[in-house]
Amino acid sequence: MARSRWGKCKDCKWFQIEPAAEPSNNTMGLCIDEDLLRFRLRVSGNSGCNRFIEGKVAHAKGSSKAPPLAAATR
Ligand code: SF4
Repeated sequence: MARSRWGKCKDCKWFQIEPAAEPSNNTMGLCIDEDLLRFRLRVSGNSGCNRFIEGKVAHAKGSSKAPPLAAATR
């Protein structure tokens, strides 16, 4: 899939949130896109970018901490 489509984190496969969390506008998590992971970007479900790929979000404990403490799960 092309990586030029802008979309919101809550619908993105690179959005990683806490194990029991649901992806919503106010859910905080770590962006685990392979090129953005090194920045340890903590984003909300209502954030977004053009690295967006539609998919199911990932889950890992510590993803919502500031700074995020979780490792990328994919
Ligand atoms: S910052 Fe971009 S790549 Fe990362 S989770 Fe949000 S939409 Fe996806």
